[in-house]
Amino acid sequence: MAVAPVLPPTLLASHAAVRAVASRVAASRPIRVAGDDHLHPPQVASLRRGDWVKLICGASFEDAADVRNLSLVYTLAGVDCIDCAADASVVGAVNEGIDVAASIVPTVQRPWVMVSVNDDCRDLHFRKAEFDPEDCPPNCSKPCEKVCPADAISLKRVVVGGEHAHSDPLSDKLEGGVIMQRCYGCGRCLSVCPYDRISAMSYIRDPTMTAELLKRSDVDAIEIHTTGKGTDMFSILWSSLGESINSVKLVAVSLPNAGESTIDFMNAIHTIMQSYREGYNLWQLDGRPMSGDIGRGATRETVSFAVDLTSMSDRPQGFYQLAGGTNLYTVDSLKNAGLFKATTLPGTTTTEKFGSQQALIGGIAYGGYARKIIGRILRKIPVQLGRMRIEDHPGYLLEALQEAMSLVGPVKGYPSPPK
Ligand code: SF4
Ligand code: SF4
Repeated sequence: MAVAPVLPPTLLASHAAVRAVASRVAASRPIRVAGDDHLHPPQVASLRRGDWVKLICGASFEDAADVRNLSLVYTLAGVDCIDCAADASVVGAVNEGIDVAASIVPTVQRPWVMVSVNDDCRDLHFRKAEFDPEDCPPNCSKPCEKVCPADAISLKRVVVGGEHAHSDPLSDKLEGGVIMQRCYGCGRCLSVCPYDRISAMSYIRDPTMTAELLKRSDVDAIEIHTTGKGTDMFSILWSSLGESINSVKLVAVSLPNAGESTIDFMNAIHTIMQSYREGYNLWQLDGRPMSGDIGRGATRETVSFAVDLTSMSDRPQGFYQLAGGTNLYTVDSLKNAGLFKATTLPGTTTTEKFGSQQALIGGIAYGGYARKIIGRILRKIPVQLGRMRIEDHPGYLLEALQEAMSLVGPVKGYPSPPK
């Protein structure tokens, strides 16, 4: 495991305000006396209470500097888990962010680190946009660049023949294109290009490399994205991972709502996973993938997915967590559905087979929305001062932490920090 970076004393001292705000997270952490809570890791106790929060860095998002800053900020804000691309350098960036958070606030609880993989290249989270800017009309208004939520497209119009050439504007050209590490496959640029110049390149994470990652002591969990279109690909991936799967504390399966066939599909997957003996399992209900930053309505699909599944008594064992379209409105939406931290279905008094100690919905994962609110602050840092290490800018780190806490706090139950 990486050694915690020690910040210079002067820099550490400048984070007094960050420590004061972050101390609210530690102070509000529940004392684990309920039932057999103490038998489980704190992250699992969160799932059982229904206040688990996961940060999704993005299964395809590989910008190590951003991943590191996000991990630092959300660790201070008290998330239980950080989900990232199954790539060694990205995993390193997550752990470095956690280490820096721990050096600023030693009482911080280390989140679990989860790597995301896919069993099928049709999963939208595992693709990258690509185009050749030389094929673009030079006078294009570049809507692709404007619509990208990840700032993953950068284009510059250059005058052919040099700056002082008086050429026909149509003979100019565009340079740049997709910044591959930042593209996470949301697909918004594909639909806005008026000239149909952008294509999507799908891929599957290599199971051999994933198996190696799972054996690392700084990787705690895996998430397998599956399309819900059949179990063959899942089965193949599961076999390829072999015994390495028993190195992790939690296996999550992320799936879309496939309607009536969903429960049968989940039960079939659950059967395949029987060789997983060492830890916990979680079902990630992916309502409307990669859309939480779009607006209020994006959260509806994952909440309605949760409502459907929790009403079915033949759903498989495991924790259930929302994702896909989650944002600031998700907690209220879950409350309206009667499912926020609920152990019984609305209008009933029974808990079915899961027992009264376990919430029906274990928690919420935040992706695009969580990244957007921190990205806004990172972009405020003057470029010449450097944006690679947010801890070098105590004022911006404090502002980012307050934003992160305003998202995590309503789930965790700690008061919003003063701004
Ligand atoms: S797919 Fe999404 S993240 Fe990737 S370049 Fe297009 S808009 Fe940006
Ligand atoms: S919108 Fe299409 S044509 Fe225009 S710059 Fe982007 S990729 Fe090129």
